[in-house]
Amino acid sequence: MDRREFFKFGLGGAALAAGGSLTPAEASSSQKRVPQGHPWWVKTLEKSKLAIDNAVYSRYKSQNNVFGSFARYYGQEKMKELYRNSQEKTAKYYQEKRPGYKLEDRALADASWVISRLGGLNRGTRSWNRKFIRTPEERGIDKYQGTPEAAARLIKAAARYFGAATTGIAILDRRHICSEERDKKIVFENVHEPYGDEEKLVIPDKCTYAIAVSILMPIDNIQCSPTAISSAGSAMGYSRAEFLVAGLAEFIRGLGYTAIPSVNDLGSSVAIALDAGLGELGRTNRLISPEYGPMVRLAKILTDLPLATDRPIDFGLQEFCQTCKRCAEACPSGCLSFKDEPDFEVCGEWNNPGHQAWFENAPKCLAYWRESTSGCSICIAVCPWSKKDKTMIHQLVKTTSARMPFLAGFFTAMDEAFGYGRQKRADQWWKLNLPEYGIDTTQGKG
Ligand code: SF4
Ligand code: SF4
Repeated sequence: MDRREFFKFGLGGAALAAGGSLTPAEASSSQKRVPQGHPWWVKTLEKSKLAIDNAVYSRYKSQNNVFGSFARYYGQEKMKELYRNSQEKTAKYYQEKRPGYKLEDRALADASWVISRLGGLNRGTRSWNRKFIRTPEERGIDKYQGTPEAAARLIKAAARYFGAATTGIAILDRRHICSEERDKKIVFENVHEPYGDEEKLVIPDKCTYAIAVSILMPIDNIQCSPTAISSAGSAMGYSRAEFLVAGLAEFIRGLGYTAIPSVNDLGSSVAIALDAGLGELGRTNRLISPEYGPMVRLAKILTDLPLATDRPIDFGLQEFCQTCKRCAEACPSGCLSFKDEPDFEVCGEWNNPGHQAWFENAPKCLAYWRESTSGCSICIAVCPWSKKDKTMIHQLVKTTSARMPFLAGFFTAMDEAFGYGRQKRADQWWKLNLPEYGIDTTQGKG
């Protein structure tokens, strides 16, 4: 029996029997309850399922993130050794002409970063102030006056136009914003425009909204992990994020409002995206979206444009992760948690304490990136929620998983048995008939 037959007669039947309540009528009434544009089987919640300890959770110093804490964790000698080994391996792989590590593969990865390198905290594409656009004042007209609902619709349409896979909006929780970054304090003040000086970066108090966007990564690249081809896929996600936040921020300024664009800098994109209902937190301690799984990068924009907000969502992911554990099993560095339940126990300074999660030992992950010579996305590639195939059967599996996450073990085993998540050959990537930017925007969309 092949995969399709199995699903047709086995799982398909089981899923339909178990999911007997999933009638078109229910789907249509669910749809009315889901205004955020997610598939109908995604529920919205008043607040996130994961608890926050308000006595502990606070703003985080970005110097403590994995890149900052890496050397403190391993010490200088080990760092030098990791670097030396990485250099030697890189040279060896070149000589061997190993697929995924050849000159053309490395060149593609480096080239994919080029737009991403144009931005930084309050710099280039991520400038906190206007670049070129004319404001309504300069045009001699009033600023945008639409309702928050109308403004949210504009923002979501514009974000999509600039390349967002999904967009959500939340009231900004300032605790998600770093207290300092690169030795500069990040503060909120009652000012009209954001500004930075030698000591601090200032966010206007009036910026009370956060727009979260997800950017799809090219799954054909990520599935070649860990090679330079998969590294190119991550880089492409970051470069497209740069284009997206630069365009969307200028659009907001063109409406007459303030916009502070950010990718991985400034604060936790994951925390903001969770509040804005883009997904749930998975075992990887990263966002998993119902449409695209973990195959997304995240970015955000803070603004004073009044916007209708979205709510956190539930598609049974945390319950699914409790059984699945596939990312933790596949992780070559052993840095992901095997605990059954998310909890409050952090692994080190790189984790911001005070919220419930499956915390990871991030420096081990980064050490593996050095060891592999080209980064790693294995945990993304193997996740059963990462799917290119938009066939009916995968939608049925997702739908059923959302309603009956206790079937996770079964689905995960089947996913593995059919070879999903297995590493793809990097030399074959060059022969694919690729869509634009290597992404298929319908991939996995429910
Ligand atoms: S990127 Fe690789 S090393 Fe890091 S957590 Fe994922 S699988 Fe593990
Ligand atoms: S691989 Fe499994 S456990 Fe890991 S994030 Fe995906 S669903 Fe959760």
